[in-house]
Amino acid sequence: MKDIRSSFPILERKIHGFPLVYLDSAATTLKPKLVVESLSEHFLMGASNIHRGVYLLSEEATAQFEGVRDQFKDFLNASDRREIVFTSGTTESINLVAATFGRANLKVGDEVLISAMEHHSNIIPWQMLCEERGCVLKVIPMTDQGELEIPAFEKLVTEKTKLISIVHVSNSIGTVNPIKKIIEVGHRVGAKVLVDAAQSVTFIPLDVQALDCDFLVLSGHKMFGPTGTGILYAKAKLLEEMPPYKGGGDMIASVTFEKTTYNEVPYKFEAGTPNIGGVIALGKALGFLQKIGIEQVAAHDTEILNYGHRRLSEVPGLRVIGTARDKGPVISFYAGKAHPHDVGTLLDQTGICVRTGHHCTQPVMRHFGVPATVRASFSIYNNSEDVDRLAVEIEKIIRMFE
Ligand code: PMP
Repeated sequence: MKDIRSSFPILERKIHGFPLVYLDSAATTLKPKLVVESLSEHFLMGASNIHRGVYLLSEEATAQFEGVRDQFKDFLNASDRREIVFTSGTTESINLVAATFGRANLKVGDEVLISAMEHHSNIIPWQMLCEERGCVLKVIPMTDQGELEIPAFEKLVTEKTKLISIVHVSNSIGTVNPIKKIIEVGHRVGAKVLVDAAQSVTFIPLDVQALDCDFLVLSGHKMFGPTGTGILYAKAKLLEEMPPYKGGGDMIASVTFEKTTYNEVPYKFEAGTPNIGGVIALGKALGFLQKIGIEQVAAHDTEILNYGHRRLSEVPGLRVIGTARDKGPVISFYAGKAHPHDVGTLLDQTGICVRTGHHCTQPVMRHFGVPATVRASFSIYNNSEDVDRLAVEIEKIIRMFE
């Protein structure tokens, strides 16, 4: 643990005179030193464009960049390196699927199924698509514990369902969804299933072949990597059939003014100069995560989550929002009579960073009848002292507002 914490220099910072307690990893994780060093090494000593260069620097950068594709192929257990597309993050990955697979395959009256706990980035692209194509967006309801209603889900899946897009772990209430089951039910009617793994990637082993998901999306910055990096996994056959997303350099095979032919998969979906330094650094982040081991991270995160639940349940007046049986390291709550934004501002005065607001899940807030929540989310660098400091300060704040 000491070694892990020392990989994150920011943890030595004092905020308003207090040691930093970072409880906002669901928004973005802290970055270990080796990731930032990789970024600066690339830009100081290796910056050159990839794929077309015939000189050493470009060949080096290409090998490093493409090496990260191989890393993710192995990490996700994809059957083919062509199934890994680099994007700028989860949002772009979902928009890519909606704009290509969605536009090419969905017709009037077809249905897209999402859930009541989706991040806005897994709602709006489908709303836009449905509006354009005359399709219908359906929503799997959830219980007051924050669990998906599986019997209702099974009834919603019909021959009309063409795509199910579902979050693996909710960013606002932490629920872990039964994605294997959801994929199985979807496939029975021939629907394709997309898994939003933005929150699960650091602590649930992902095996796209075992899951048999059609698409899986994630963001680099939530797994210790740089912002502006992300992955779209898709089955090779689907990628081959999908039309391109953005037009530009690198995604073509040949261009004339009359007709363009497209590059092979996955390059067909990677138009323009990509985030080369970012992707190379993302490879370092993945290596860092794998060195610790997902099982280790999961054990640590579960321990801190359980401790957090126990400790916060002792605070009078605190109401936890989202109490699913299977949860990721996220605790959303309402603190007595204090508005979440006030809580966040007061916590900041003592060096504690939490997120307050709707967490890009306004329908979830509406479901629980709150305008916003305070959200504490944990990662490998958090310890029980962080939870204790949060609990002590929250107790003071609740009393102050009574
Ligand atoms: N889905 C989930 C579950 C998320 O937590 C987030 C980020 N909060 C996103 C999608 C969007 O990710 P990004 O902003 O990195 O594109």
